[in-house]
Amino acid sequence: MASDKGPSAGDPTLRRRIEPWEFEASFDPRELCKEACLLYEVQWGTSHKVWRNSSKNTTMHVEVNFIEKFTSERRFCSPVSCSIIWFLSWSPCWECSKVIREFLHQRPSVTLVIYVARLYYHMDQQNRQGLRDLINSGVTIRIMRAPEHDYCWRNFVNYPPGKDAHWPRYPPLWMELYGLELYCIILNLPPCLMISRRCQKQLTLFRLSLQNCHYQMIPPPILLAAGVIQLPVIWR
Ligand SMILES: [Zn+2]
Repeated sequence: MASDKGPSAGDPTLRRRIEPWEFEASFDPRELCKEACLLYEVQWGTSHKVWRNSSKNTTMHVEVNFIEKFTSERRFCSPVSCSIIWFLSWSPCWECSKVIREFLHQRPSVTLVIYVARLYYHMDQQNRQGLRDLINSGVTIRIMRAPEHDYCWRNFVNYPPGKDAHWPRYPPLWMELYGLELYCIILNLPPCLMISRRCQKQLTLFRLSLQNCHYQMIPPPILLAAGVIQLPVIWR
């Protein structure tokens, strides 16, 4: 049931929430917004308490900002296990991937799960290798889909009163396209998702270009979800 209040009523996280327009602009997979946005939560040991906050790029990328802030805090010295979840508008670049790996190498008690709305310059071989290296280091990387957009809206956004269920319904196809491309990256296949800008960068075009290796290596359900193949039709 929709509440008649926003998250403001007695919510200690209010000042750390972002505005609805910021969320919609940052996490829409159809748009290539310039600014990167990180929504994150940190949980220590078996505690049910979850610390949530958001971060933007400064002179450094959001991932590096997070790690610098996190490592400067006193509790970083704690041997207690720590679970971190990131919701990123863009996947980490290869340089951030390197910093993340070094950070996790120094702190084996930290686990990191990353949900990304888009893949950052995914044609760049270094960025692709950076994501593979992260996954090989134990980091879980997933594309944000409807449940994650719903979760972020409720927990990180200062949504208007009564609008707790009004998270933006982005078309699932774009998430499936990025999901397909992430699979290509994991399997070290050539890119198949082509993104181009037209009309003075006003129009963003998404196009798929698959080779035989994609059809051979990628599981049919992923190809099906991205609309590359269709279910067989039996004619009577
Ligand atoms: Zn970066």
